[in-house]
Amino acid sequence: MAPARGRLVLERARVVVGDGSVVERATVVVDGDRISSVEDGLPGGPRPDDRVVDLSGRTVMPGMVNCHFHATYHNLGAVTAPFGLEEPMAMQVVRAVRNLETLVRAGFTGAVSAGAPFAIDASMKAAIDRRLIVGPRLVPCSRDISTTGHAGDRSFPSHWDVGALGAIRRSDGPDEFRRSVRLEIKEGAEMIKLFITGGHGTVGPREQTELSRAELAAAVEAAHQRGARVRGHIANKEALLMALDCSIDIVDHGDGMDTECIERLLETDTPVVPSMLFPARFLASIGGGSLGFTDDMRHDIEAMAAVLPEANRSGVRIVLGDDYGAINFPHGPYADELAYYVEEVGIPPLDVLTWATGNGAAVFGRADDLGTVTAGKLADLLVVDGDPVADINLLRNPGALLAVLLGGHPVTDRLASVADRPGG
Ligand SMILES: [Zn+2]
Repeated sequence: MAPARGRLVLERARVVVGDGSVVERATVVVDGDRISSVEDGLPGGPRPDDRVVDLSGRTVMPGMVNCHFHATYHNLGAVTAPFGLEEPMAMQVVRAVRNLETLVRAGFTGAVSAGAPFAIDASMKAAIDRRLIVGPRLVPCSRDISTTGHAGDRSFPSHWDVGALGAIRRSDGPDEFRRSVRLEIKEGAEMIKLFITGGHGTVGPREQTELSRAELAAAVEAAHQRGARVRGHIANKEALLMALDCSIDIVDHGDGMDTECIERLLETDTPVVPSMLFPARFLASIGGGSLGFTDDMRHDIEAMAAVLPEANRSGVRIVLGDDYGAINFPHGPYADELAYYVEEVGIPPLDVLTWATGNGAAVFGRADDLGTVTAGKLADLLVVDGDPVADINLLRNPGALLAVLLGGHPVTDRLASVADRPGG
């Protein structure tokens, strides 16, 4: 057993609580793996083995949660191999290990996967939990479950129906969907990914709904019966409403969302991952040019930018996460999203911070234990050198993260530098 550590006392910090509120000056105490108090001062006074850090001018906030993460993706879409077969499995595992470590060091202490081949996610979760590798808390996802001939189906004719599954388990009819869901759960998936439409960063038309209502309902029922959840790639209104009818758990992308969809999302309290940064970056990467599908992409991103502030004000549970690792959108700068929503979509910074923290913890499935700086919760915390509400771009700079704590355990710890530099 590891020797007991003394408490970590973070004095005079600004606290971004994670629920939309800010406490301007508080002392946050971390005792073991949990937050033991958040008060104006230190209850009972200091103890001899406490580590006390004066955080005047700095901020304590919850660790962020990336709710649409593909640990294995690398330049996806740039080669014509079927998805998940671009590289040998061993190379994809190495990439996943590296990307998960990068993610947690960027301040994301949680990740809800949106799909990975070969049950790699399940092994990543086990390796992180056993401390074999450094990574965030992880909800492992399935392969994509998609119908034969869906827009992204590269298994034939171009690759003549290769035998390996890669990132996609092709399924047709409710019985095959049920079987695919059960196989993925047996391999360790806690989240099932369905491709419900084309559009949003895929070459398939967004109008094309790629599975039937009966297939979708069967998949959701089979998942829920075994304690797994279901998320879906959705880029038109009809599919979004159908998915809500079928009790889907997470709406990915959500292009085509309008006021009617917002009302339904609020009724069902279903979260949305707008994931606008990949299409925005992709469009920027081709300049003003057009590749056919990019006209729809441009239209959809403008429509989402118009409706997202309304969805946010209405209380739709919006979260961060995007297709890092897709073509022209490399893994690494994971906090760029926060700045994008503030600067390009006009969402208030404190709201985007709530998407990243409190909302993210709810989508992770542990709102009771994560997502806010509250006494009793697990100490997944960031210490930021400055005020991310005043300058959201601070979070894009890993050097501004003075500490990343995961269950009280330091992933990054530069707090010793604070003593020498009074905060602003
Ligand atoms: Zn994705």
